[in-house]
Amino acid sequence: MFCFKDPSHVNSAETAGVMFVNIGNRRGVSHLWKFDYDLVVIGGGSGGLACSKEAAQLGKKVAVLDYVDPSPKGTKWGLGGTCVNVGCIPKKLMHQSALLGTAVKDARKYGWNIPAPVSHDWPTMAEAVQNHVRSLNWGHRVQLQDKKVKYLNLRGSLVDEHTIRGTILTAGNIVLATGMRPKYPSNVPGAVEHGITSDDIFWLKESPGKTLVVGASCILLSASAPWLQFGCIGLDTTIMVRSIALRGFDQRLAASRGELLAGHCQVAEMSCHFCCRLALWDRLPQMAGLVTDYMDTYGTKFTWKCIPKKVEKLASGALQVTWEDLGRTAETKTLNLEKIGVALQKESGKVIVGDDESSSVPNVFAIGDIAEGRPELTPVAIKAGKLLARRLFSPSTELMNYDNSQQCIPVLIHLQQQVPTTVFTPLEYGCVGLPEEEAERRYGKDAIEVYHAFFKPLEFSVAERDSSQCYIKVVCLREGDQPIVGLHFTGPNAGEVTQGFALGFQCGATYRHLLDTVGIHPTCAEEVIKLNITKRSGLDATTMNRFFARLTAGYEAARIADTPTATLPFPIKTSS
Ligand SMILES: Cc1cc2nc3c(=O)[nH]c(=O)nc-3n(C[C@H](O)[C@H](O)[C@H](O)COP(=O)(O)OP(=O)(O)OC[C@H]3O[C@@H](n4cnc5c(N)ncnc54)[C@H](O)[C@@H]3O)c2cc1C
Repeated sequence: MFCFKDPSHVNSAETAGVMFVNIGNRRGVSHLWKFDYDLVVIGGGSGGLACSKEAAQLGKKVAVLDYVDPSPKGTKWGLGGTCVNVGCIPKKLMHQSALLGTAVKDARKYGWNIPAPVSHDWPTMAEAVQNHVRSLNWGHRVQLQDKKVKYLNLRGSLVDEHTIRGTILTAGNIVLATGMRPKYPSNVPGAVEHGITSDDIFWLKESPGKTLVVGASCILLSASAPWLQFGCIGLDTTIMVRSIALRGFDQRLAASRGELLAGHCQVAEMSCHFCCRLALWDRLPQMAGLVTDYMDTYGTKFTWKCIPKKVEKLASGALQVTWEDLGRTAETKTLNLEKIGVALQKESGKVIVGDDESSSVPNVFAIGDIAEGRPELTPVAIKAGKLLARRLFSPSTELMNYDNSQQCIPVLIHLQQQVPTTVFTPLEYGCVGLPEEEAERRYGKDAIEVYHAFFKPLEFSVAERDSSQCYIKVVCLREGDQPIVGLHFTGPNAGEVTQGFALGFQCGATYRHLLDTVGIHPTCAEEVIKLNITKRSGLDATTMNRFFARLTAGYEAARIADTPTATLPFPIKTSS
């Protein structure tokens, strides 16, 4: 048997016609065989496209199979996968449309003369968004063509570890990147018949009108952008939540804030409405709670601890929902994986992968949403795909680091790959690193310091917008310069803010670095570097409560509330 140790020695000139591939497979299996392609990728979404283009750039012969099964409502789309067609892109555009609705309201306060009533035209928005998505589909086809990646609009499945059915193709390596699709709760009568999912929302030509959204995961709240956001300007929207919103995100209870508000209820004799809001505060997790509370303020209704049992259409045409889990399911069922020995995780149906994205079968890899335990995010799928192609077809050994925390061993900090993300709910929530409770679990309560502040974006002031959910939390270790292990931000442009801090995080930022950073004034991001109140101190982190403190207890209380409270192991500079 013939064996090339280093796959980089095999280039397309050598392999055209007769291809000797999968040489130097990292799992120690070597083959001498004649294959049609060096690499076949099944799934032309974020991960699959990135992986195939990278491999082609390294001189390999590559094909991508991408096929979209229509949704039960018949919705279908083009090349590019979930992100482009039914995920990040149409979601962000509809989010922007909703933000403009709020901006129009603000604009009047800023002197714009906008005749009332202002109305929103769904078909106009939908057509513009759908046209943009189609342009991206076309762009992806052109890119594949330019990079000489063969695109086949076919459903692929595996015959064996080197053979793909669709049209019969053979490949040295196979990458599975088939993503996920929404899961209908088949045990809820009427759900398939009357319900729609994120696969349909962005392709609706007409406004959905009054809507019940079932579930409150990150994806679901994002997918519901049109409803959640347009709840503010007319669409009657209710979200049904089984247990908690935004599972996996920071859930630490805002106990200190709840207590402080209660105090002010008594002192200032706040209205009943305020007390109700307080009850909500106590019940909701912190960061996630801020997001849902904001939506609640702008008219989105929530029903907690409910699951749908049945959906019926009434004579009036309205749907009646009697109070399981709507989620997403991995696209692995039709790939014939179990038959060829690719191990799947039983509950999720996802492919069990090693650190190098390898499955239990040599030459078969899985990236993106269908790989077990990976964050379901576009940039994660893209980076994993590129790194895998480089490891397969060049001397690179670089692995994707999925850990979401800073490794606190200084030499390793620079090697860490952190995954920042943002939930594009009406009030955006961006984060990088660990939720507070996870930091506590990993390092112990006494080993972490949490700095936090409620803040008022300047632009909210003139517009008289409620800023009580704009909040920042930075979780640090209590040692040395206090390495930052988590950063959380709810407020305008959270994605933009968090992306910048994610770079600092990647470089091993500490609380001291925050203090030493010069702000850009006046911005919301600047508030992050001004943090000086620790949760441990129990002091009030709200501007509003400092104001009440002045009213009720005089300036001494306010002065104490304003005093930096961290006992720092290093001197701090103060600025206004
Ligand atoms: C509503 C929504 C909003 C989101 N918002 C964000 C966001 O803001 N930011 C972010 O980072 N992530 C977001 N995501 C997640 C992101 O879209 C996914 O993590 C990402 O698209 C996963 O990429 P992938 O390559 O694993 O799979 P996908 O992009 O899903 O691509 C898989 C492709 O494979 C095709 N396919 C499936 N089976 C076969 C087969 N047998 N043969 C051929 N082709 C097949 C599919 O049709 C699809 O085209 C969102 C997701 C949703 C649903």
